[in-house]
Amino acid sequence: MHDIHVIGGGLAGSEAAWQLAEAGLKVRLSEMRGGGDATAAHHGDSLAELVCSNSFRSDDAEANAVGLLHQEMRALGSVILSQGDRHRVPAGSALAVDRDGFSEGVTRTLTAHPNITVVRERVDALPDGPAIIATGPLTAPGLAGAIGAETGRDSLAFFDAIAPIVHRESIDMETAWFQSRWNKGGGSDYINCPLTKDQYIAFHQGLMDGEKTEFREWERDTPYFDGCMPAEVMAERGVDTLRYGPMKGVGLDDPRTGRWPYAVVQLRQDNASGTLWNIVGFQTKLKHAEQVRLFRTIPGLENAEFARLGGLHRNTFIRSPELLDRQLRLKSRPAVRFAGQITGCEGYVESAAIGLLAGRFAAAELTGRPLTSPPRETALGALLAHVTGDAEAETFQPMNVNFGLFPPIEGRTKKADRKRMYTDRGRAALGEWMAALA
Ligand code: FAD
Repeated sequence: MHDIHVIGGGLAGSEAAWQLAEAGLKVRLSEMRGGGDATAAHHGDSLAELVCSNSFRSDDAEANAVGLLHQEMRALGSVILSQGDRHRVPAGSALAVDRDGFSEGVTRTLTAHPNITVVRERVDALPDGPAIIATGPLTAPGLAGAIGAETGRDSLAFFDAIAPIVHRESIDMETAWFQSRWNKGGGSDYINCPLTKDQYIAFHQGLMDGEKTEFREWERDTPYFDGCMPAEVMAERGVDTLRYGPMKGVGLDDPRTGRWPYAVVQLRQDNASGTLWNIVGFQTKLKHAEQVRLFRTIPGLENAEFARLGGLHRNTFIRSPELLDRQLRLKSRPAVRFAGQITGCEGYVESAAIGLLAGRFAAAELTGRPLTSPPRETALGALLAHVTGDAEAETFQPMNVNFGLFPPIEGRTKKADRKRMYTDRGRAALGEWMAALA
């Protein structure tokens, strides 16, 4: 007999199972690898396998959002962080791990826990009782279908097409201006960056010539969704395709010339606080360095700082801001929670962090000790707010943790001091939250 069923023994499911077990609950942890099933990216049977890089990124808790997230997870007894620390390999200020030692360490720790039963099985249906679904970006098709049937077909994306996201404060508003096309809606919902004919032609050429990431073998047959054609694929269709598509200048009056620009790059607000803006229609497979170089040739974006760069790879994630409540419960079936990348966070650490929260929320509910959500000033709280409500549901895309997800620092501050201010404020907020828990 178990109290709760955790499905998926990746980064999120392992962390969720650990948090539940440590709270005294009996957990059934179902992992399909090792039971006759595989994914296209995993190579072995260990829990918490790292499918690609061996890095948990920056461990700098003073100046980096993911470093702060590491610190918060350590404070909350994360098994992913404790095993990461135990299997650390030299990587400067980053936390990189010996991937085999790390995954074996997590597997050994969970298997040895008296409250956890690891079962090597594939789950194809949504469970009826308390459960956490943490089956990741490569969720097996049967369960993906069951999730789609519950949430609605449009709510489960199968291809991750992401456009770059820019920090608002790095956009030059002397050149760019706020306006909706034809002044529709609010009249000023978009930021517009104007291009002259010469700038547009050069930008088009840059897209054509830029170095692109190749699809992996198993991604090649996955179709593009309507409306998320990579910009460079559009560029290949003709020099004017983009100018008549996402880059059309009609209906936009450049205040500096009083005329419609030859072409325009538009940015749309991406989070509730307006600190992050995504470049409309610019999902791209250009290599990251190439994206930074090319997008900084756009007038107004010369000094752009990117919270996330564009990319395109297969992914399964739900439209969490619409489907989940603030405690990661599926609104239509509250006994079921979601965790990990399937909720629309991105990355090993973020997935484990959402697993940690799902495990703690479920444990609190099952033991009758309600748990408030971590404050938004913390990295955990900022990430949770992104997946459960702050992001726009319609355009929701997976995202790494970054300071743009945090409530802005009020008042005028020196740029050099700002990161430190975010992390100091986050540490204080976590301390208060944990003191209240105790
Ligand atoms: P996973 O770690 O994928 O775990 C999900 C688990 O669920 C898997 O073990 C799977 O076997 C199991 N499962 C699936 N369906 C079922 C089912 N029906 N029944 C039972 N078990 C099931 N992130 C980074 O930070 N750095 C990188 O370099 C990086 N590279 C990536 C490369 C690729 C090709 C992909 C696809 C992703 C990459 N990511 C990377 C993202 C990374 O995979 C995720 O952030 C992270 O692994 C997600 O954790 P998770 O627990 O949500 O999912």
